[in-house]
Amino acid sequence: MFDIVNLDKPVQPELLDSIRREGIVIYDAEDEIMNLERVRDNLRARGFRAEIFDDGKAVSEYLNAAIDGTTVGFGGSVTLKELGLYDTLSAHNDVHWHWAGDNEERDRASSTEVYLSSANGLSEGGELVNIDGTGNRVAATLYGHKRVYFVVGRNKIAPDYEQALWRARNIAAPKNAQRLGMKTPCALLADHCHDCRSPERICRGLVVLWGPMMGTETEVLLVRENLGL
Ligand code: SF4
Repeated sequence: MFDIVNLDKPVQPELLDSIRREGIVIYDAEDEIMNLERVRDNLRARGFRAEIFDDGKAVSEYLNAAIDGTTVGFGGSVTLKELGLYDTLSAHNDVHWHWAGDNEERDRASSTEVYLSSANGLSEGGELVNIDGTGNRVAATLYGHKRVYFVVGRNKIAPDYEQALWRARNIAAPKNAQRLGMKTPCALLADHCHDCRSPERICRGLVVLWGPMMGTETEVLLVRENLGL
């Protein structure tokens, strides 16, 4: 799979042909940095379902209609919390979230039909990046659920994979460490990742989805506003 290619850089014709065969969208360098339509199209080319929403209210309404009468697991996510989705979906589903209950909720959430998460970073080419400490959230996005939804605010999108990974490590993870009050250099200094060896390090594992896992319907919901960390 190839990344997006800027046409202002010299690209060999054979490489362009290969990229087009892969279904990756090629764009001009003049395009605005964040074109959600382009991100959506690249996600679809990778096999994800993908839609764009104007705001949090619209994406919440969509999920409330799409998820009904079933079991739902939530990963730890400020995005999901900001949207109030636990209360919304609990009105007509059996929802499990350790942020709204005890730690056993992690186990219950691991075997639900539907799972919801956000992403720590998303490249314009459609690569979803998530870092986890306990592992329940990233594991659930890989296996065990019939449907997985990622709710992704525009602030999570980076021009390419390297920058999406950089964002996950240097913006999302330090902010989460601060939120949790961890004794880690990133939380104490409020700056960037120090690749620490702290016992309270929250970055233990990295999962990158290049496409939906086989057997899992995976939909990425892009939102034209900032959500989460
Ligand atoms: S590895 Fe350590 S310093 Fe880096 S973001 Fe994670 S907790 Fe912070």
